[in-house]
Amino acid sequence: MEEKLEKNTVNKVIVVTGGSRGIGAEIVKTLARESYTVILNYNKSEACAKNVESELKKEGHTVDIFKADVSKKEEAQALVQFAIEKYGRIDVLVNNAGISQTKLFTDITEEDWQNMLKQNLTSVFYTTQEAVKNMIHNKQGLIINMSSIWGQTGGSMEVHYSTAKAGIIGFTKALAKELGPSNVRVDAIAPGIIDTDMNSEYSDEEKEAIKEEIPLGKIGTTNNIAKCVKWLIEDDYTTGEVISINGGWNM
Ligand code: NAP
Repeated sequence: MEEKLEKNTVNKVIVVTGGSRGIGAEIVKTLARESYTVILNYNKSEACAKNVESELKKEGHTVDIFKADVSKKEEAQALVQFAIEKYGRIDVLVNNAGISQTKLFTDITEEDWQNMLKQNLTSVFYTTQEAVKNMIHNKQGLIINMSSIWGQTGGSMEVHYSTAKAGIIGFTKALAKELGPSNVRVDAIAPGIIDTDMNSEYSDEEKEAIKEEIPLGKIGTTNNIAKCVKWLIEDDYTTGEVISINGGWNM
């Protein structure tokens, strides 16, 4: 109880979905190093989640780990409830978890389609609906949704992924309008290409070809995205915004 009260007075309570690897893991580390109270959600990569935890522990920081498949309503709700029950509230929800798949449109099965929307978009509906009840009650909160450049421009051979990420943008703007009067902000980040497992299928030659299309001539880092999340948390006047971090690939 003492810990709960102390954390409530000094920290923001932040849930990061898909915090075990890639962009999410970097967001968790960046925020924990700022002494925020961070709940790292993972689904399949328990060892990676524990690695993030032990790296932070060595530096003197703590993080909670919570396993949940956020594409399942009960598990998504349980994740948010864990934060509220342990710390009394949720201040920031970072909807980062996602999957990608490259396929010709004509090869996308109905199962591929449904799964893509469930993992990348319906999961955001589940976690956000649970979190905003608490945020509206507290008259403050922030939701950060991970979209993609493909949600803005459309990605060839990624129609289902692009559709889900475009859906995130509509979701973000509509909810920002609805919840602004409750002092709950809703923003999205649209990364270009970031160096994570998600892009491991690209060969070195393909990566070089992509770099040539990017005005800044390089692939982004997870830190580029984590710094933006940190900035959005510190800010109090940005809502309904889609922040593009893509080296100028889409302007
Ligand atoms: P990544 O390296 O493949 O990591 C994906 C993360 O999402 C993992 O931590 C994974 O957790 C988690 N995840 C997936 N499905 C989940 C579920 N149902 N429940 C809970 N966690 C789940 O991908 P990334 O590159 O970091 O991407 C993070 C986000 O940025 C995604 O939304 C992605 O679409 C978006 N994005 C990435 C790029 C890029 O170039 N990398 C560009 C634009 C947008 P487990 O392994 O524990 O299951």
